[in-house]
Amino acid sequence: MKVLFGILLLFLSCTWLAQAFARNPEMRTEINTARLVDLNVRVVVIGISPELVNTTYLKWNLPSIKFQQYLNPGVTTGARYRLNYEFIFPSREFEDSFAQYLKSIAKLEVFNNPFFETNLTNTFYPADLTENWLRYHQSDFYDGSVPAYTLVLANLSRTVPSVSSSQYSEYIKKSMSNFTPHYYNMTYYDSDLYFTLRRRWMTSWGGSGRLYFIDLSAGPSNVTKQLPLQWATKANNITFQTPYGSIWLTQYLSDWIYGAVEGLFAPDFIYPIGFAKNFIIDVLVIDNRTDLRIPAIDATLSPPRIKEELEKLLPLSEIEVKVRFINATSSKNLTNIIVTSTSPGKYGNISVIDARPVYNWLSAEGVGHLKDFFNITERTSELHIPVMAFVFTGEHQFGFTFKEDLSDDAESIWGVALGDVILISHSSHDLIRGNFTERRQPQRGFGLTNTIIHEVGHMLGLTHPFRIDPTQDFVASVMAYYPYEYGYSQFEKDSLLRGYTDSQLMAAKADLREVGPNLLNQELLLSIQRKLEVVERHYSEMSYAEALPVALKVRREAAFARWVTETISIFTTGSLAVFSVSSIVVLITFGPRYLRRKKFE
Ligand SMILES: [Zn+2]
Repeated sequence: MKVLFGILLLFLSCTWLAQAFARNPEMRTEINTARLVDLNVRVVVIGISPELVNTTYLKWNLPSIKFQQYLNPGVTTGARYRLNYEFIFPSREFEDSFAQYLKSIAKLEVFNNPFFETNLTNTFYPADLTENWLRYHQSDFYDGSVPAYTLVLANLSRTVPSVSSSQYSEYIKKSMSNFTPHYYNMTYYDSDLYFTLRRRWMTSWGGSGRLYFIDLSAGPSNVTKQLPLQWATKANNITFQTPYGSIWLTQYLSDWIYGAVEGLFAPDFIYPIGFAKNFIIDVLVIDNRTDLRIPAIDATLSPPRIKEELEKLLPLSEIEVKVRFINATSSKNLTNIIVTSTSPGKYGNISVIDARPVYNWLSAEGVGHLKDFFNITERTSELHIPVMAFVFTGEHQFGFTFKEDLSDDAESIWGVALGDVILISHSSHDLIRGNFTERRQPQRGFGLTNTIIHEVGHMLGLTHPFRIDPTQDFVASVMAYYPYEYGYSQFEKDSLLRGYTDSQLMAAKADLREVGPNLLNQELLLSIQRKLEVVERHYSEMSYAEALPVALKVRREAAFARWVTETISIFTTGSLAVFSVSSIVVLITFGPRYLRRKKFE
């Protein structure tokens, strides 16, 4: 009875200890363990006859396993994604209704087309409306029972105004007339300083949900410089109805799919990721302007907007955005490093402050001055992201040197995420850029909010979506360059929560490998097993925000189970040692006496 009570007490204290012990081991990132999971990709091909596409060959061309990586420092995350493809060819009626919708939202503009560098009749379709229409009509071609990313590849050259294959020869001969390309467009406003930005030359779009749309017949665009399908076939002298024509077309489709899979659906991370309960975005705005005092420095960024977008990306964490303002002159050392790092050369009209010596001066591995500006007391449940946002005089911006360069383009940057600190630079002219543009927007410019959200995305591990294929620059994401979005795409929201879940589960499994079942941990192991099943169910439904909290519990319980095992083992080894030592002592003390007695008795 006493023994039973003792065990019960021990077990109760174990459950209590499980809560107390597990004070956030989740910050650890394990990269040596492996996890293989399914990721489904539904490819919807519009405007191309299914007879022309060999889906077996198409599947062979596509990556079936993706080893996810931390690009910096260049190791695998441990997660492997098994990519399952499904190919759907919607009916001709669907294609026609899509074209009908596009016609209803089309806007024709005779305008200088920067790809052709001449005035043309360009047709524009609002990118967000097109995406919404496709998302809403997905149920027309599949039942939605398998959770997946959807990639729509459309050839609309039959149904909407596009460049024709015969125009390709004219383009090559530089005799352009009556070209009628089509594009997708968006209009943006800087939320701090109201600059209006028209983004007209896009050929694909998506990311508000789990759908991405590539119009193979749109363009050509000055941004991506890729050939529309009808020009690519002409350039390669392809006839679809021949055996090679079908092979060529199938490969062409697979190349588009590859970019979307690598850039959007199963992206790598730039830095190792780590879930935290609290993320602190600690922004120090350094006003270095000596020329202009407008706009007021506190009007150049919006802490609530930064917080809002990060909360949408990290729904399970607390986000704190702290902002302080200083004048560069208040730190003599800081002014000195800026002055001595300024390049004497001019790049176009931009003067560059070399970011590398400034970073060396700040970083802990370098001179170590970062601690003069940020009080970083990192607890395991916290991730502290320091941001130094400079506003420089005139056309000064941070830049990087390259060992060889013949262009006089500015190697300047608005921001860079360096792993331990973010450096941001806007010039005083950026804040009123509208005063300097061809179509003037007096006193309007670009604030710091958008740049900060982008760079924080890098610090959390997100890469540029167009890293593999420039097409994916056209996506509803602050991490893209061409659009001017403030929010992160659904693909990025998924990839972070999925990545956190993967790393929690891999760490938990590494712990569980060290744990054998014993009398004390049966209940605990059963509870872990049940939770694992719940995590995997949410995960396979792509409900990552539901999967992660359970994965965190699994991780804590697995760490505790390992701790119990190791404690028991220490105790057992310890007892054995105590027993052995006391036996030796007894032998030494009493052995000779016993022997002596034996001898003389
Ligand atoms: Zn970037």
